Amino acid sequence: MRHDDAPPLKDAPQGDAPPGDARPAAPPDAIARMSAYCTYCPKMCRFSCPASAAESRETVTPWGMMRLLELTGDQSVALSPEVAETFYHCTGCRRCQAFCRHDNDVPRALWRAREQAADAGLIPAALTTLREHFDAHSRPYAEAIDWRPDPEVFDPEATVGFWPDCDTLATNPELIDRVGRLLERVLGEKVRLIGTGPDHLPVCCGFPLGATGDRPALDHHLKERWPSLKGLTELYTDCPALCAWAEPGSSWPELSHGDPERLKPTHLVEVLAEAVGQNPPPEKLDVSAIMVHHSCMMTRQAPLATPSLKLLRALGSGEPVTMMFDGVEAECCGGQAVYRALEPEAARRQAARVAEQLHQHPTATRQVSTAATCACALGEARADLDITSLLELVCEAYTI
Ligand code: SF4
Ligand code: SF4
Repeated sequence: MRHDDAPPLKDAPQGDAPPGDARPAAPPDAIARMSAYCTYCPKMCRFSCPASAAESRETVTPWGMMRLLELTGDQSVALSPEVAETFYHCTGCRRCQAFCRHDNDVPRALWRAREQAADAGLIPAALTTLREHFDAHSRPYAEAIDWRPDPEVFDPEATVGFWPDCDTLATNPELIDRVGRLLERVLGEKVRLIGTGPDHLPVCCGFPLGATGDRPALDHHLKERWPSLKGLTELYTDCPALCAWAEPGSSWPELSHGDPERLKPTHLVEVLAEAVGQNPPPEKLDVSAIMVHHSCMMTRQAPLATPSLKLLRALGSGEPVTMMFDGVEAECCGGQAVYRALEPEAARRQAARVAEQLHQHPTATRQVSTAATCACALGEARADLDITSLLELVCEAYTI
């Protein structure tokens, strides 16, 4: 499976590339091989799946979804609305792959299955709202956001861009200004805020639209709503999906970098791991009091676990506390936008379970998730527990 030291995936896809994408989707023979492995498997990965855990249904185990895919593939089962809906119960966490002897990339197979479902007009009704939010705001969320960026913080002419995560914008927009100040402090220059949408706020990269399988909508978003990156030499982001999507080894067809305006994004943990090491915070943090939750997107989809830990260590002294399942085996909180829209209660149950585990350690006094999406999902599910995103912790360390 994919992690920091892993070789590229074995089954390099060979099929047709969707518009705007450089890496093709999984070809039918690779999907058939994966689903055949699952069919004869005694469900070795069942325990690892957040959807199975949260919904307690055999149909939404990795085995169940892949078995249905096989049955629709050989036309033993018709692609009905109920069957199509099943293909959406995967958060894309890739945790099943961590425990699969065949290295099956279930999200890759299901991405293709969703595109087929969408082509047949079978996107689940529960995702219609998400699509409407994209139409209206170019983001997966509807909430009106009063916040506007501090014009003193960002420089529209800067050649280094910062494209914030939608969850940061929706739940903690002030952090965007704080990150701008942090970057100025550790890099010695202002950055440009990227992704200005219809309401003059940053837009989504479009990953959740892609996860609905709606290729025409995604293509429209990539062509019409993708922000201008003209004049940039670097593009930084705290969005794990944007980084994972651009990773050649992730589960999803890669975003095109052929367009000179489509720079490959760099996650802020990579930038800050270096910059903080050279320009440490005034007061050292006791890192050994911090329990860290690794985002799926930043371990199994994009190789960002090592820079996340390097950044944490650069903030102070000591080793962060690990969860029982850690790093590449870390549990998924179910916080991915499409799963939350599809099964809000199940997603919340799963996030509450992971949040509870984060707080069970006898000596850890701070709980930190490496991604804004996870920190937000965990925090919403257990508002009584304090869970910070890694980026927020870094700003705190610099009293920003
Ligand atoms: S993904 Fe791997 S472990 Fe899971 S059911 Fe399929 S073959 Fe078995
Ligand atoms: S990738 Fe995650 S959510 Fe999807 S089937 Fe595997 S374990 Fe379940």
